[in-house]
Amino acid sequence: MNTPDTGSFGQEEIQASREVRYRVDKGSVSGIYSSRLSESIKASIRQVIRITRSDPFLLITATRLLSVQKRAAARREALATEGLQVPPVVMFSLTHQCNLACHGCYMRSLHRAETPEMTSDQLMDLVSECVDLGVSFLVMAGGEPLVRRNEILMLARAYPDLIFAIFTNGLLVDESLATEFGKLPNIVPILSIEGTEEMTDSRRREGTYEAVLLALSLLKKHHIFFGCSVTVTRENYPDVTGDQFIQEMIVHGCRLFAYVEYVPIDEGTRGLLISDEQRSDLNRYLSGFSDQYPALFIGFPGDEENFGGCLSAGRGFIHINPSGDLEPCPAAPFSDVNVTRVSLRDALGSDFLARIRSNHEMLTESGGGCALWTNRKWVSSLLTERKI
Ligand code: SF4
Repeated sequence: MNTPDTGSFGQEEIQASREVRYRVDKGSVSGIYSSRLSESIKASIRQVIRITRSDPFLLITATRLLSVQKRAAARREALATEGLQVPPVVMFSLTHQCNLACHGCYMRSLHRAETPEMTSDQLMDLVSECVDLGVSFLVMAGGEPLVRRNEILMLARAYPDLIFAIFTNGLLVDESLATEFGKLPNIVPILSIEGTEEMTDSRRREGTYEAVLLALSLLKKHHIFFGCSVTVTRENYPDVTGDQFIQEMIVHGCRLFAYVEYVPIDEGTRGLLISDEQRSDLNRYLSGFSDQYPALFIGFPGDEENFGGCLSAGRGFIHINPSGDLEPCPAAPFSDVNVTRVSLRDALGSDFLARIRSNHEMLTESGGGCALWTNRKWVSSLLTERKI
């Protein structure tokens, strides 16, 4: 595939992405991390407005969502004065089910598949509470979230002011689903890819790379705002941090790049963990890419350093597993409360989450990249036997 020159990208768009990175870096962490997080969410949406200005449909939506973010942030701040910590982001693992069996898949390693999954009604009630509490956007993952595509479409139609970031392997994206996504600009599909065809297929399955490219072309055809997600390992690092990979993904229409550091849930895969040098370089690269390309570049957990470390346990996000257990993070499957038994508001008052947040020193990123996974013995020790 031939590589296009970068001159084709608009200076204003590049200036916008430079702005986002500058904001975050300049304001390194203080106690006001939650308002900084709200600011960085708004800054990201402003950049999306610039990227989508050539598409009136997406531009109108992004502009409306920016005003929604302001109201949501104000709602969270009001609840904070009442002592309730509402994170701007709620991560849902909608299902255990998946049509792939990738090496090192955290869901397959951590979560018991036999537990019953939340019903459509329970999901609808939960998302309704998210809106009432001022949550800004939902990350929907799994397993493969699109095995519950009808519920995702139902929820996005019911709550057009909420952003749904769908982390999917892309294999279930077809013409009819792309058509539906095209009508719901508050859905942002983010397709997983490991870098080259060889790397993607060796971790996922033969033919996955081609299937993902086909899905990207369908999303581009329907003028959807979408992106790609890369699990960054020591092996694929040179490829996925290279200009060729990024330029190819931009040609395929990606306008958001999520770099998720690999967490060695399977002890035998520690060798895949990126090195400390790669980690510090990655944060620098992502800033450089924001200067160079008209796209949003997000590093996880790298960007958390701008907010004083790990944003789990409600500082920036929480995780709800398929059966409704509220957990501090997808990589920390520990919980003292289930949202099918109590309201989300009450669940956010979880003593377990509060104790994690109040031990800030344990949340600063350690050698393993994921503070909670690295300190999982300490996390589980905080858990009281009693489960509400
Ligand atoms: S697609 Fe995702 S959930 Fe499914 S096996 Fe692969 S990593 Fe796991």
